[in-house]
Amino acid sequence: MGRLDGKVCLITGAARGQGAAEAELFAAEGGTAWLADVLDAEGEATASRVGGTYRHLDVSDEKGWQQLIDEIVNRDGRIDVLVNNAGIFRSNRMLDTPLDEFDLVMDVNCKGVFLGMRTVAGPMREAGSGSIVNISSLAGMQGAAGAFAYGTSKWAVRGMTKTAAVELARRGVRVNSIHPGLIATDMADQLPKIERMQRGIPLGRSATADEVARLALFLASDESSYSTGSEFIVDGGLNAV
Ligand code: NAD
Repeated sequence: MGRLDGKVCLITGAARGQGAAEAELFAAEGGTAWLADVLDAEGEATASRVGGTYRHLDVSDEKGWQQLIDEIVNRDGRIDVLVNNAGIFRSNRMLDTPLDEFDLVMDVNCKGVFLGMRTVAGPMREAGSGSIVNISSLAGMQGAAGAFAYGTSKWAVRGMTKTAAVELARRGVRVNSIHPGLIATDMADQLPKIERMQRGIPLGRSATADEVARLALFLASDESSYSTGSEFIVDGGLNAV
């Protein structure tokens, strides 16, 4: 028996990195995996490798969200799990952050999560169940000096998670956030001072994408049935320092 048997799951930003690891693990655990991204060639390749379905979705596109959720519900009859994983990183201190960078990061990391939650909430509320997993960051737990827009967006994800969780709880829909530390993906390659960061992690290394996917699996599945509005940190001890 798989831990997600019978569950219809959508993962955004699933062409590569953590989203791809989540799609692979969810499909291996019996879930029906829908993968969304803007990197179409990589997304199609990942979907065919893991046995899922790829669709182009820019998470900041309101109409695109509605079209995709309609298609999922028409084909599979339901949507049980949404992982709002798509995200972008920009490194600038507050004083150097141009407005267009701030807007872009908020559009993808913040508006994208809001639109995703709002769109799936309809069918999930109707079904009386669902699990939404929002990927924030350790940057949403601490000050993120040098990545002002990114840190701001990840704190917003943490806040939206709690508010949505309280609003949706009585309809059987759970909403939680994951706060990864340093994860070995393309995004981490963009981080300045990555080696110094790595040395500061108590476990002494960055995580693999799969180590985050295993936490997302727990939150997506009914194993986490009493958790909602909560923060789950996967950071090798960094937040404890
Ligand atoms: P990644 O860059 O490999 O993956 C991000 C994915 O999101 C890419 O496939 C990208 O194409 C997609 N994406 C970007 N903009 C999009 C848009 N507008 N619409 C749809 N898809 C879009 O990085 P990752 O590490 O796998 O990141 C996954 C999540 O984890 C992100 O939300 C990121 O902020 C968060 N995170 C990453 C780290 C880390 O160290 N890598 C740490 C904390 C949090």
